[in-house]
Amino acid sequence: MIQTDILIIGAGPTGLFTVFEAGLLKLKCHIIDGLPQPGGQLTELYPKKPIFDIPGYPSVGAAELVDNLMEQIKQFQPGFTLNEVAETIDKLEDGTFVVTTNKGTKHHAKAVAIAGGLGSFEPRKPLIDNIGYYEDKGVEYFVKNPELFRDKKIVISGGGDSALDWSVFLADVAKEVTLVHRRNEFRGALDSVEKVQHLKDQGKINLITPAEVISIHGEDRVEGVTLERDGQQDLLACDYFIPLFGLTPKLGPIANWGLEIEKNAIKVNNALDYQTNIEGIYAIGDINTYPGKLKLILCGFHEATLMCQSVYNRLNPGKKYVLKYTTVSGIDGFDGSRKEAEKAVVKAID
Ligand SMILES: Cc1cc2nc3c(=O)[nH]c(=O)nc-3n(C[C@H](O)[C@H](O)[C@H](O)COP(=O)(O)OP(=O)(O)OC[C@H]3O[C@@H](n4cnc5c(N)ncnc54)[C@H](O)[C@@H]3O)c2cc1C
Repeated sequence: MIQTDILIIGAGPTGLFTVFEAGLLKLKCHIIDGLPQPGGQLTELYPKKPIFDIPGYPSVGAAELVDNLMEQIKQFQPGFTLNEVAETIDKLEDGTFVVTTNKGTKHHAKAVAIAGGLGSFEPRKPLIDNIGYYEDKGVEYFVKNPELFRDKKIVISGGGDSALDWSVFLADVAKEVTLVHRRNEFRGALDSVEKVQHLKDQGKINLITPAEVISIHGEDRVEGVTLERDGQQDLLACDYFIPLFGLTPKLGPIANWGLEIEKNAIKVNNALDYQTNIEGIYAIGDINTYPGKLKLILCGFHEATLMCQSVYNRLNPGKKYVLKYTTVSGIDGFDGSRKEAEKAVVKAID
């Protein structure tokens, strides 16, 4: 069982920054995320877009901000359980929690911070009758490990950045890449469209538009798909079918945890510490709601900061926390001299 002080559900910007604020208070964090990589909406929905309202950055790329957050928290050595969705939560008699994922991984924590954003992202699936049968048997909704496709024949469908970018990337990995899109125009970034076109001209990508995959074939696993184009149907042999139609956020399993929910968000006490109706469970960032709530990255950072103070007070009854600026106390990662940092940051008074 994984042990930690604060278990953070969600590796978006709010969850990542929580590790930093908790680290200053010498609280250890572990993060669970259903996606294969950290960054939440920034990585999944708009990695290449510039953000203009992060204090101190006139402009920062979404992916760059995530990289910087990861760099900033490295010193506090957070643990990660990626690619797994937090499914159930049990509150133990001593007030601690056990959170179990859809893959059975158990995490024991003194406090839980739900930083689940818009909820767990679930892939949008094409309306193909038997697609469920082929999941994990050649149908993949994410490219988690590109090596899976080495020297294989793959069909990707979709018209957004994911479909374009993975087609470009996998053109050097797979034996054959076919990109199918139901329109002639793509929604993705222009430079990605140009790259696909270039690879098509070089014979490295087989581009078929406007067309749709309408059925999947194979006995025990995917052996081919049927394409419909101009009312005509063609069979295309392949080892993998990768529909990349984007992700839809759903509150998911968290909706069944006994938390007070309002309009798909978790109600919290914003006058104090962003705690939910269950003591010891906090909700921060896009996933929470309170009067005046704004779904902005900087609001998530603020909420994470106040929440960590509350967890510290809860875990250290009788000790008083004295705020010290990082410019004064410096930052001591978990490698460094813990005692010194504790002396500098926290003054215990009975
Ligand atoms: C196109 C676009 C542009 C934007 N531009 C700006 C901008 O310019 N400035 C700004 O401030 N904000 C912007 N936003 C909003 C900003 O992205 C969000 O406010 C921010 O991502 C919220 O961060 P978060 O960490 O709370 O949640 P998220 O980024 O949504 O991350 C939540 C994470 O939790 C995970 N998760 C949820 N449930 C579970 C579960 N049960 N188990 C495991 N993992 C789970 C999800 O997989 C996800 O990775 C933009 C949003 C979009 C879509």
